[in-house]
Amino acid sequence: MRYSQLLLPTLKENPAEAEVVSHRLLLRAGFIRKLTSGVYSYLPLGLAAIRKVEQIVREEMNRAGAQELLLPVVQPADLWKESGRWEKYGPELLRFKDRHNRESCLGPTHEEVITDLVRMNVHSYRSLPLNLYQIQTKFRDEIRPRFGLMRGREFIMKDGYSFDIDEDGANVTYRKMYDAYHRIFSRCGLSFRAVEADTGTIGGSFSHEFMVLAETGEDTLAICKSDDDKCGYAANLEKAAGAAPRPAEPEVEMLPLEKVETPGKRKVVAVTAFLDISPKQLVKTMVYLADGKPVAVLVRGDHEVQEVKLKNMLGAVEVELADDKQIFDATGVPSGYLGPVGIRILVVADREIAVMRNFVVGGGEKNYHLLNANLGRDFEVDRIGDLREVTAGDRCPHCSGELEFTKGIEVGHIFKLGTAYSEALNATCLDGKGREKHFVMGCYGIGVSRTVAAAIEQNHDKDGIIFPLPIAPFKVVVLNLSPDDNEITSAAEQVYHGLREQGIEVLLDDRDERPGIKFKDVDLIGIPYRVTVGKGFAKDGTVEVRERRHGLTETLPLADAAAFLVERIDRAMATPNG
Ligand code: ATP
Ligand code: MG
Repeated sequence: MRYSQLLLPTLKENPAEAEVVSHRLLLRAGFIRKLTSGVYSYLPLGLAAIRKVEQIVREEMNRAGAQELLLPVVQPADLWKESGRWEKYGPELLRFKDRHNRESCLGPTHEEVITDLVRMNVHSYRSLPLNLYQIQTKFRDEIRPRFGLMRGREFIMKDGYSFDIDEDGANVTYRKMYDAYHRIFSRCGLSFRAVEADTGTIGGSFSHEFMVLAETGEDTLAICKSDDDKCGYAANLEKAAGAAPRPAEPEVEMLPLEKVETPGKRKVVAVTAFLDISPKQLVKTMVYLADGKPVAVLVRGDHEVQEVKLKNMLGAVEVELADDKQIFDATGVPSGYLGPVGIRILVVADREIAVMRNFVVGGGEKNYHLLNANLGRDFEVDRIGDLREVTAGDRCPHCSGELEFTKGIEVGHIFKLGTAYSEALNATCLDGKGREKHFVMGCYGIGVSRTVAAAIEQNHDKDGIIFPLPIAPFKVVVLNLSPDDNEITSAAEQVYHGLREQGIEVLLDDRDERPGIKFKDVDLIGIPYRVTVGKGFAKDGTVEVRERRHGLTETLPLADAAAFLVERIDRAMATPNG
């Protein structure tokens, strides 16, 4: 490809609307342009990078025995009503009516459509396991589309769905997908980590997220740092559990409940300072609205409620913290003084509360707290479980290692769905004994466009993108620094053609621009290798080969350049993130 003919509108300045590096660089490098909120056009180089990721995904999905198909973007509401998600999915589902007044939606995901397809067409265990995938544009009306391709409303996803006759089969398929995802992100040249994940609105029993490690990631990962690193526990903070609290020491005697005046002290810091106790000796009573209904949540003073865990415990679609007025309306107690003793709304507690003795709680009236409260003696709770967020210093639930935190970008998510959808849609087939069985399903997503953005978040410097070789839109760029000099021009053409003949994707910068501009542009677009044909060639017939990531350069005779690069690229592709 010749740069002079390429639609590659690079920008000198940082676009004001772009908050994160990948968004900034994708715009500046001329890879994407925004059409409207969360909706982008992919320009040729942006599309080329996306296609690279797609190709790796395809090869590995096919290798794992999955088959590619393509499902419709427009989906009828009836199917979503059958699965129960028409009500549950919320406003991310873009709904509309067609000219016949039929309700429809744009597909944010395809469990309903694929389950319908399979129930109509697969009737025997002999056709199983069946694993189907597509690479397609999805639409989700995200509440806050942001960060360019990281969280769009329209984006490209690979979504796959598996159908097995039983749990054992589904577990084998899940494992295959887990392994395939490892190969996919390794082959993309990314540094990533698989973590245990929450199952979200899709539901199901078991799931892992694949996270590209990057400081700008929206997700926090808790990773076990056991000495030998053997444990391997890693989980999304939404799901991460610390080691179970140690049971209360039986010899700690329960002291008499005592009401004390705590004038104007509402916050944990103020109350504990006033009473001269540690926040670990206090239990705070937080009020949430779970799908509109108030619920009191008890956690230790130094802990925070993990809202995803709360949502799961309550089976709620949305939970949000109540404001002062909502707290007073629900309990009759001003915020800051609420406690579990005598409270009349639903109460749930973090499991830590069960092992605490003689703690401080809100007094249930303005300016008062209670000392020496104890679960079981002074109050009961409706449900108890792991509700808090793990913090630095917490111990791993599997070994005694300490948990550490790091940031990641979710690029893939695999779920074991079980029979949730096959039961809802009554999708069955006959097993080997002629019995009718619901398919045991799994689903497997990869954010293809987000993967390109995540690769940039992880791989860039002040000059621009540094593409991992396997997903770079071109592997080499040849710079002709003097397009008006015939000798230099024909030397540049020679390298360019030499590389093309060897099957290397190469861009020839044949533009009539100053060298400074060319150097800046090719650094910005992040092509892994650059060959410069200029003064050196005029002097002694040499060209300069430079690799983008470390800036290492070699000066070579023109005739050797192509072979040198082919060898380099073959070697690097064999260990993409080595
Ligand atoms: P998130 O928590 O980031 O919203 P999700 O759990 O909703 O993601 P899934 O439903 O599992 O995502 O979708 C599969 C994959 O699609 C995700 O792992 C992610 O890489 C990608 N993805 C999801 N939402 C978006 C989006 N708005 N823009 C770009 N990619 C997305
Ligand atoms: Mg989402």
